[in-house]
Amino acid sequence: MNARVLIDGPSELVFDYAIPAGLDVQPGCRVRVPLRRKSATGTVLSIGEPDAQADFALRELESLVDPEPLITPVLLKTGAWIADYYGCSIESVIRSVLPESVRTEENSAKTRRVAVLVAAPEEAVLEKLAKRAPRQHAIVSLLVNSADQRLAVADLGDGNAAALKALEKSGVISLVAEEVRRDPEADAIDEILEFKPLPLNPEQAEALEAILTAMADPVAAKPILLLGVTGSGKTEVYLQAAQRALDMGKTVLVLVPEISLTPQTVRRFKSRFAAIQDQVAVLHSNLSQGERFDEWHRIRKGKARIVIGARSAVFAPLPDLGLILVDEEHENSYKQENPPRYHGRDVAVLRAHFEPCAMVLGSATPSLESWHNCETGKYQLVRLTQRADGQSMPLVRVVDMRLEKAKMKGGTPILSDKLRTALEQRLERGEQSILFLNRRGFARSLQCPACGYVCQCPHCAVALTYHRTDERLVCHVCGHQAIVPRKCPECHDPAILLQGYGTQKVEEVLARLLPTAKFARIDADAMRRKHALRDTLHAFKTHKIDILIGTQMIAKGLHFPNVTLVGILNADLGLHVPDFRAGERTFQLLTQVAGRAGRGDLAGEVIVQTFTPHSPSIQYARKHDFDGFSEQEMDFRRQFSYPPYAHCAVLTARSTHERRAEFTLQTLHLRLAEDLPQGMVLGEVLPSPLIRSHGQFRFQITLRSHRARTLTKHVQAVLARTSLPDDVIVVFDMDALNFS
Ligand code: ADP
Ligand code: ZN
Repeated sequence: MNARVLIDGPSELVFDYAIPAGLDVQPGCRVRVPLRRKSATGTVLSIGEPDAQADFALRELESLVDPEPLITPVLLKTGAWIADYYGCSIESVIRSVLPESVRTEENSAKTRRVAVLVAAPEEAVLEKLAKRAPRQHAIVSLLVNSADQRLAVADLGDGNAAALKALEKSGVISLVAEEVRRDPEADAIDEILEFKPLPLNPEQAEALEAILTAMADPVAAKPILLLGVTGSGKTEVYLQAAQRALDMGKTVLVLVPEISLTPQTVRRFKSRFAAIQDQVAVLHSNLSQGERFDEWHRIRKGKARIVIGARSAVFAPLPDLGLILVDEEHENSYKQENPPRYHGRDVAVLRAHFEPCAMVLGSATPSLESWHNCETGKYQLVRLTQRADGQSMPLVRVVDMRLEKAKMKGGTPILSDKLRTALEQRLERGEQSILFLNRRGFARSLQCPACGYVCQCPHCAVALTYHRTDERLVCHVCGHQAIVPRKCPECHDPAILLQGYGTQKVEEVLARLLPTAKFARIDADAMRRKHALRDTLHAFKTHKIDILIGTQMIAKGLHFPNVTLVGILNADLGLHVPDFRAGERTFQLLTQVAGRAGRGDLAGEVIVQTFTPHSPSIQYARKHDFDGFSEQEMDFRRQFSYPPYAHCAVLTARSTHERRAEFTLQTLHLRLAEDLPQGMVLGEVLPSPLIRSHGQFRFQITLRSHRARTLTKHVQAVLARTSLPDDVIVVFDMDALNFS
């Protein structure tokens, strides 16, 4: 038999080796192999029959690095599915499944020498030692008095080597090597207090019951979509379900969008399981290689039984998995933006199916993909409709910025009178506020500040992208072009323009209007310094700050009881990006941000500023009405054959050489069109909305099909028989979320 081996190291080298007799090699095993004149380590991808045609003898494997496979059969199967579905190499997938830190040899477990007391000497012997060998006597006394009769050799200080040796020789102690864990939490600043389970309300109890039923019979169970309004107590349901999985002797995997942005979810898991703290592993992106190595092995050996992490934690090697929880399942950050371009949520669902184990997806604003899966009966829907703390949902007011603009003489209004008054009230009452600013859309659209009109494609119902270089508007889905209007087609105001401002500008305006207020910014710029985010959030929590100004970074999972006002400054900006998911994203964002208000005993209020007050995303978010929103949005998706009614992929070519990138994609387009599978829609070759990025020119084609596999296979086949110029990079992104 032969083994196909992925060699460790930065380049994706894959070679076949013959398996010597007597060596039990399985897929997922770590092996040592000859490579040129040296020896190297690698991972076995698969085992196969030798190729009868081969006219050369393969070299033999040298040995096994670990006696057992490091990758479980389920994870190998999941990996193979990813490679097939997303059209990426199995090598790139294995690199994600088995992180670099685990593959490289330098990161082997850290050990220390420990002296263990074997047999305490008798009184007479001790007295003799005290006189003749004081060092030996001192060591023995320390050992006898230590709690577990063992001491790290390093802790004894220098100059004890001879004494230790003598003690070992006389059988008093033994010297052993012991693994030490590089504990990433060792210098954590705050103490974790235990937080006891709460008695569940009837809706929560029903949700827990559904999860327990799934855990009892995971083969029959469907994935559960837990749709609970913000503050409905989803986290409490997760915690109690996790506890039950542990009680059953199973392990639990919890995926969150980003660890640093969901500190409170992580904290709540830690405090609920404070008594078994060392069984909880948090996979931060900032773990050192050594820490990652140790955590990975702790998980694999079943020592860490609850794992919390972002996207890549979906590959955590937990044995006996009983439950996977994906919190905020609608978040885009679950999609990986470099190879392999998998979606962490979808891979989690698949892994749960292969394990098998119970699967729970939670959100207040589920993705329409998951919602559609409920409608078709693939998922089971469970709802929490009330806030768990008995509070009512915050009151949301919409402010029409076209009127504010009319009141001003030129310029862009930033703070409406209504929002300013509301902020002043909070300051007087000693309550806190959050101001949310939409990050600029990735591409520019044209919007009239007088009437709110946005230039859209008549065929695709997405905003047109403004290309400054040649002064035209382009639909990046179908290629429709339009000239830039000199005045608004709707109200004829000539002020149609591109607008936008940043958090810094907001800070300036606030400083002028509310001179006594203390405020802080949270955005990518302000958060560059290490721990800046943690420190700012802490200052806000302890009320050293009255007003927190932030971008998307503050939309997720933050929970501050004293916040009674949330202002959304420019609800439109995300709405008019040239992306068919713009409405969905805006609805999600507004609902999530609004959910930050009134999380304590005080009632919350939300003020939304917008130039398009009648847009459905804004109106449904105002009423906290997911059903109403999804109904109209699904109608639109069906009409235009967008996801979830079809799969949508993007093929991008980029190069420092503009023509070459475009020409390469045109060649691919011709070949893709040749025998286009039935029902597949092939878009035109178009400049990407961000045509120039990092010094490269980018062009793209959008493809749609009802059948995911057909789409991937067709593109892969064309790519395989097309030789690309060296300086052009072509990227295929299946189920793409990012069209920039
Ligand atoms: P979600 O995760 O759905 O946003 P949380 O789990 O954060 O909601 O719950 C919101 C608040 O309600 C938290 O302060 C939580 O402690 C509280 N809570 C949750 N469940 C209960 C319950 N059964 N009884 C009382 N309070 C609860
Ligand atoms: Zn179009």
